[in-house]
Amino acid sequence: MSATYDTDNIFAKILRGEIPCHRVYEDDATIAFMDVMPQADGHVLVVPKTPSRNLLDADPATLTGLIQVVQKVAKAAQQAFEADGISIMQFNEAAGGQSVFHLHVHVIPRHEGQPLKP
Ligand code: ADP
Repeated sequence: MSATYDTDNIFAKILRGEIPCHRVYEDDATIAFMDVMPQADGHVLVVPKTPSRNLLDADPATLTGLIQVVQKVAKAAQQAFEADGISIMQFNEAAGGQSVFHLHVHVIPRHEGQPLKP
């Protein structure tokens, strides 16, 4: 398993403003934007600005700020999408389901009886 950070990953490019995103939240340390291939309506990605590859190499301060924004976004998404629940998902390394190698957390509004899109 490699712990190196690739500055060419797509979220690094979004953070540098090189490619667009639909931003729904931003503060000094964190940004949140809509997922381009949502698994349900309102699927948001919460991304710390500090360059961590994933949870495994992130520093504690980054994780503390990140989870607080995840809660804010989850509450806002629950209201905005009248969700019955919220799935919070986070993947680490390819074998763990990660495809973009900059730390991020999925916030996905859920409704009774509606499975996630593949
Ligand atoms: P997975 O692809 O298995 O969900 P990740 O946890 O690494 O693994 O998730 C990366 C997410 O980034 C995916 O949900 C994908 O749809 C999303 N994504 C990829 N490119 C962009 C982009 N340019 N803007 C917004 N979301 C993106």
